[in-house]
Amino acid sequence: MQTVLPDLAMAIPVTSAQTLVVKIGTSSLTGSTTGQFALSTLAALVESLCMLRHQGHQVVLVSSGAVGIGCRRLQLTERPKTLAMKQAVAAVGQGRLMRIYDDLFSALNQPIAQVLLTRSDLAQRSRYVNSYRTFRQLLQIGVIPIVNENDTVAVEELKFGDNDTLSALVASLIGAQWLFLLTDVDRLYSADPRSNPGAEPIISIDRMADIQAFKAVAGGQGSTWGTGGMLTKLEAAQIAATAGVRTVITDGRQPQTIAQALAGEAVGTQFAPSPRPGRARKRWIAAGLAPSGRLHLDRGASTAIVNGGKSLLAAGITRIEGNFDAQDAVVICADDGTDIARGIVNYNAADLERILGRRSEEIKGILGYGGADTVVHRDNLVIATDPDPMETDIPLANL
Ligand code: GLU
Repeated sequence: MQTVLPDLAMAIPVTSAQTLVVKIGTSSLTGSTTGQFALSTLAALVESLCMLRHQGHQVVLVSSGAVGIGCRRLQLTERPKTLAMKQAVAAVGQGRLMRIYDDLFSALNQPIAQVLLTRSDLAQRSRYVNSYRTFRQLLQIGVIPIVNENDTVAVEELKFGDNDTLSALVASLIGAQWLFLLTDVDRLYSADPRSNPGAEPIISIDRMADIQAFKAVAGGQGSTWGTGGMLTKLEAAQIAATAGVRTVITDGRQPQTIAQALAGEAVGTQFAPSPRPGRARKRWIAAGLAPSGRLHLDRGASTAIVNGGKSLLAAGITRIEGNFDAQDAVVICADDGTDIARGIVNYNAADLERILGRRSEEIKGILGYGGADTVVHRDNLVIATDPDPMETDIPLANL
């Protein structure tokens, strides 16, 4: 972890057009005490994003605020507790949010689009590909898509949960080069700078292991540190790094830092991308999919998939958990219970229960139909311990 000014190796000025995802949270959009729109912050952000568009960059904005603004519109004094009320309030706030953005961007002749996503839009392959095509088309015609979670319909178990994660997944989906997480501090510090004058600024985090170490610190300090949302930002940076995206955590009130980062200046805290991001399909399996079950393997099968690069066969499975369907994502565990991979399974749980431990040639006789020879094909397997040093120590849950 680097806590001093880096040498200029990381600060290579960008000369070509880049694709950037910029995420702004409710606390930056609205004044902390009044809950009113922080208009000057928003206007400065809109101006910066339009300037980046004019320079030829492709820009996606991920904006929170639907729930907060909906509460204000309905004059609620506290955030709703029930899911139905949260969804209702988000439906009120999302329209207000887009109206403000449209007014501001329209003043600068910049067309925008609203894209509302739920986790299942990125979990199902056909919807994932479709979402990608929509983004690509919008960016090709010069529109700035404004993304939020579709809070009004997303049920709890299908939620991204926070827009930090959503923005990292969008950056991965569209193959962005940069993810900017705007917050209310200028960068990360080694401790809470408000109570600890010795806290050192963190300029860059270049190794995945350092993100892990930092997460432990941020998690431990919880909401007493910074915005209270640092853990999700670190998790987002981890997803983004795995997908080959550089993340910058920087101050939402100073949106000119986005252009400065592109110009190679060491603003904010920057997280280096993995030099060898996974192929798009594997990134989707690793990051987009919420697993619906677990497959436990014997030792031979674990070794074959982790070290041998082999597909997973029914013969090597000893036990399954969960009521998954064919083509769902599952976690794959070694015989000692540790998670070793994720993959897309070719059989549903009921059928797999009947064929586990059996040879592939027996499957047709047992099930009455000839399905795939493999239970998880190696093209649909993402192994947790990739030899890439940037990726070796990412826990599976965070892939
Ligand atoms: N989608 C939520 C909203 O618009 C925000 C989620 C978050 O704050 O990360 O209110």
